[in-house]
Amino acid sequence: MSDQQQISLLKELIAANNNALPLNDFMQFALYDLQYGYYINCNPINTDFITAPEISQLFGEIIGIWVVLQWEQLGKPTQFNLVELGPGQGTLMLDIMRVAHKYISNYVSICLVEVSPILKEVQRKTLSAYSENTTWCNNIKDLLPAPTILIANEFFDALPIRQFTYRNNKWYEKCVAINHDKLALVDRETNNNFGEQDDGCVIEVNELAHKIFSNIKSFISSTSGAALMIDYGYTKSSGESTLQAVKEHKYHDILDNLGKVDITAHVDFSLFTDCKIISQRDFLYRYGIKERAAILLKKANAKEAKHVMQSLHRLTHPELMGELFKCAVYQHFSNIKWYNCDYEDY
Ligand code: SAH
Repeated sequence: MSDQQQISLLKELIAANNNALPLNDFMQFALYDLQYGYYINCNPINTDFITAPEISQLFGEIIGIWVVLQWEQLGKPTQFNLVELGPGQGTLMLDIMRVAHKYISNYVSICLVEVSPILKEVQRKTLSAYSENTTWCNNIKDLLPAPTILIANEFFDALPIRQFTYRNNKWYEKCVAINHDKLALVDRETNNNFGEQDDGCVIEVNELAHKIFSNIKSFISSTSGAALMIDYGYTKSSGESTLQAVKEHKYHDILDNLGKVDITAHVDFSLFTDCKIISQRDFLYRYGIKERAAILLKKANAKEAKHVMQSLHRLTHPELMGELFKCAVYQHFSNIKWYNCDYEDY
């Protein structure tokens, strides 16, 4: 599997697209090609980037509290799906289950949606205590038709985006081309039109994210349930590019080291229609991160205590992960018992 073969394949793709491959197709190839894709071939977590559940158990434990609350609000169903999109090393689900297992372990079917064979293996090991409850699936539509609670942390940022720029009263689409035998980003005229904007304005469109979220919503509204999407992103576009590549915790050129760097974009939270959107800081505070940290501190030695305090700060400080990371919460509880019941029963 040589880099040369991979570049030749990409060049063929570019040639087949009138010598300009739209950014989303380039990302699809760089991240998901079944032979060369970044997510297919490596375990990037901790090597290239770190995520909230890997920073501290506090994060997943608070999500665990949220999961139990959703399950209660659903009327404590005795069969339900707990789905995670892009579960990484399985750490978030493990931390969720540490909190939730005594309430839900007899009733839960854990379903993981993961593209990477390497990470599936890591998840299998991390979640070995729950192997009887755990399966992997490729599509939300394949789930059991039961109430469903879905989690996705740093999943949507990985999905390929299209990028359009407004310049001199015209819209252009960002594409990858070959220039002097090297990969180059170019702008191609497009019929897509986002109206009149400031010169240089960039609009990013994540068609796959829209499709996946629409599937989540229609599944959950047919079965009842809740979904929690957490990611870095914005509720109102700044009109600038948010495309980024990261390798070994440093920013990187998106065209260099093909298939060996993480390429992502900030998530446009306006795609999560019918959701409550709050900052990660507010979400974690609301469900008790400070109280949970206080309990951990009581049992901690000096080194552990420092780690608890530092990670609490990192996850919630507005200038660190607290504000940039946001939570979109979708809830559909129409068939729940207590919701429909006669309150005089209490
Ligand atoms: N949620 C984890 C990992 C985030 S990294 C955490 O917080 O630590 C992104 C995860 O999504 C990885 O597990 C990656 O392999 C997976 N992934 C990315 N794109 C995917 C796709 N299209 N389908 C399924 N899984 C995907």
